[in-house]
Amino acid sequence: METVYFLTQHDKAAIVAPVLASLGYEIRETRFLDTDHLGTFTGDVKRFDTQVNTAIEKARLAAQHHGARFGLGSEGSFGPDPYMGVSAWNTEVLAIWDAEKNYAVHAAAQGPLTNYAQLEADTGEQAWQFVQRAGFPEHGIIVGRAEEPWFDKEIRDPAILKATIEAIIAETGAVWLETDMRAHRNPSRHAMIRQAAEAMAQRLAAVCPACQAAGFGAVALVPGALCEECGAATQAARARRMACPLCGHSEEQSIRNHVPASQCEDCNP
Ligand SMILES: [Zn+2]
Ligand SMILES: [Zn+2]
Repeated sequence: METVYFLTQHDKAAIVAPVLASLGYEIRETRFLDTDHLGTFTGDVKRFDTQVNTAIEKARLAAQHHGARFGLGSEGSFGPDPYMGVSAWNTEVLAIWDAEKNYAVHAAAQGPLTNYAQLEADTGEQAWQFVQRAGFPEHGIIVGRAEEPWFDKEIRDPAILKATIEAIIAETGAVWLETDMRAHRNPSRHAMIRQAAEAMAQRLAAVCPACQAAGFGAVALVPGALCEECGAATQAARARRMACPLCGHSEEQSIRNHVPASQCEDCNP
């Protein structure tokens, strides 16, 4: 087994370890550094490449700190979906750093699978609806803002949560509530991290045909599939660009040559 040091605060190793064990990687959680200081976990939507670079930086630091060949880093983000901007969206990135070959392999999973939400509630009823919609007690709820004296991330008992919320509303007129997005208190996020780990395993299992490094995989879609009706090139993907993260070797993997006229800007503007 190859030991991989996973720099994480929130018990994600248990999610990732079984998936990567099948490839011969043994995940060891490490917390030598407070990753919150790397500007992580802001709850904001970040540019995807920034999120990837943060995960790679954590992986590199983990390998360096332990003098090991492999480090693993992760970075999650939450925010409005990239299409309509109305539903909550979660992107999870994992990156593994290979200090011997000096390169990283990353993989991601994303989707609307999240209960990310906040609310300033001024009645107990409104607050409790929010709590139930969020999936408490399986999903965690954070009561109050960090600077407020009643700020609490660890309430797990419904009766205690209810009493706490009602006491704060009685005293101040309102309570700030948010869903806890830490992986160990958020099963939706848990599932997304697992998907990212599966994508990572797939990536690590694919070897570059030019240099034999692990991590050969799709980096982009290539537009240009031809319209079945008029033969014009469309924006629809014709191929996947596969690339090696170490030597840069790339190949196109064909997806399809033709698409229905419904995807053609000339036939179906
Ligand atoms: Zn290569
Ligand atoms: Zn056409």
